[in-house]
Amino acid sequence: MKKPLRARIGGARVAAPSAVAERARAGLFAYVDGMAAQGAAPETALAEIAEGKAATGIARVALSATAAPAGLACTRGCAFCCILGGEDGATITEAEARALHAALRPLAGQPDGRAWHPRACPALDPETRACRAYDARPVICRSYVSTDAAACERVAGGIPAQGPGTLGPYHTYLAALGLSRAALRGVRRVSTHALSRLAAAAVEGASLEDALAASRHKPGALDAELSRSRRDRSRAGLP
Ligand code: SF4
Ligand code: SF4
Repeated sequence: MKKPLRARIGGARVAAPSAVAERARAGLFAYVDGMAAQGAAPETALAEIAEGKAATGIARVALSATAAPAGLACTRGCAFCCILGGEDGATITEAEARALHAALRPLAGQPDGRAWHPRACPALDPETRACRAYDARPVICRSYVSTDAAACERVAGGIPAQGPGTLGPYHTYLAALGLSRAALRGVRRVSTHALSRLAAAAVEGASLEDALAASRHKPGALDAELSRSRRDRSRAGLP
């Protein structure tokens, strides 16, 4: 790679509001600088950015500093948000896909969330409705919150309702992924994966390679998720 990684990140563009894009870029710079300070080779930083570890790390740090909304209704076993929409369920990074597979593959053959609801995430326990991959759950699961569980049930049934939504760090995560992809264009693939397809493959006993292949998105999926993110922020009156 002729151009240094930092310069590539500096010149990358993403279709996100400028405040979100610049927060994500600052996070990627901090990630690269932090790895250099630890003595990691530039190739290691590049590999982690390509896998989405940087985007995930940026979001997790931001989430740890984000106050929960007042009147939060989320509790263990309240799982309407784990009833996933569309074919994909949600967008996750390759690093998150690998971690989820490692957590779920040992549970292959056990009843999964789909025994409770046909569109539930396969990572869910159908009896307790708790996430069986809690420590490995992706950023979208950590970011989606609500002040009204009944509204979540309506949304899961396809009826729009006020209450649930994603916290700001999810939008920064998407922008960081988009910047990572733009920065590494022609050097390394930055893939995203479908949560529901990855989890289904893992609990059905697929190998990591097969689960990654079965869940890998086409490149346009991240662009579509970035568009949804912009619409959601605009509806919420955020810049
Ligand atoms: S987001 Fe909604 S469904 Fe999920 S735990 Fe919170 S209140 Fe329950
Ligand atoms: S990974 Fe866990 S928290 Fe996320 S949708 Fe699946 S069951 Fe729910």
